Amino acid sequence: MKRVISVVVPVYNEEAGIKSFLTEQLCPACSKLSYNTEIILVNDGSEDKTLEKIKECKINNLKLVSFVRNFGKEVALTAGIKNAKGDAVILIDADGQHPVEMIEKMVEKWENGAAIVTAVRDENTTKHKLGSRVYYAMMKMFGNKKVVVGAMDFRLIDRTVADEFNKFTERNRLARGLIDWMGVPQTYVKVHTKNRIGGKPTYSFKKLTSLTIDSLVSSSRTPLIVFGYIGVFITIVSLFLGLFILIQQYIMGDPLGLDWSGAVAMSVFVSFLVGLVLVSQAITAIYISQIHIEAKGRPLYIIDKKKSFGIDDKK
Ligand code: UDP
Ligand code: MG
Repeated sequence: MKRVISVVVPVYNEEAGIKSFLTEQLCPACSKLSYNTEIILVNDGSEDKTLEKIKECKINNLKLVSFVRNFGKEVALTAGIKNAKGDAVILIDADGQHPVEMIEKMVEKWENGAAIVTAVRDENTTKHKLGSRVYYAMMKMFGNKKVVVGAMDFRLIDRTVADEFNKFTERNRLARGLIDWMGVPQTYVKVHTKNRIGGKPTYSFKKLTSLTIDSLVSSSRTPLIVFGYIGVFITIVSLFLGLFILIQQYIMGDPLGLDWSGAVAMSVFVSFLVGLVLVSQAITAIYISQIHIEAKGRPLYIIDKKKSFGIDDKK
């Protein structure tokens, strides 16, 4: 039997470009492959005409998973992978920024034995330039040591990897982070990202910042530990400094002639320590809030059965 390749596309408010992406880019790219293909669109609670536009395209090999509301791209990818039946699963954005021309090359690498083929963004075309630099710098410093700069969501994963991916249960997730975490060797292909076909990117600065914090917190304990060390260091230093002031000023009668006002020295210390305590508390709070989210064990997403078709995951 001919092998199947699944293409998973998360879609949120893409009415401007979804039609041309599907009919002019993705479908032609799929028909070039010598495999049966299935396209799994995950409509992530779009509030515009995205759904109508998708239906107008009349694509045969289309499966549609439609969420009742917006759950975020990472959850959309998760639902897509869960519903994918293919021997390989390709993850691609719906806005035309991920060049479909690379799909053939990725499949070729997979045929040659690669279990994960990851597209790496060419530095010059990095879109969120500053944002993504900060992200990668933070991830390298605190998180996963093996972060490849510019590695994108645009990926091909083998069935074996998709099966493992489906076993992850955490709510707070970054698809590429989980895939990287598995440690399965990856093959990289360089790509030049393109401009959006239409519409606006929905990843705001705020969303990107929280994504960075989330992925750090979910992949590393370092922020907690670092503040523990800083706390110990400051406590020891302030202890010695306090002793110094006590002995120099009050016991020995200020032989060095510093004439420090005790109140000034102390208030500086106190405010410094209070600041530190607040920062470390905030970090702890982030971790605890994540535990809280995970502990609730809610379903990752809710599917709108009436708006979906071609899938078994109709919870
Ligand atoms: N997306 C989604 N849910 C969201 C936000 C985005 O499914 O809540 C989809 C979006 O339709 C697109 C992809 O995720 O296919 C990437 O989104 P976007 O272009 O806004 O982000 P960026 O290109 O900045 O990564
Ligand atoms: Mg985009």
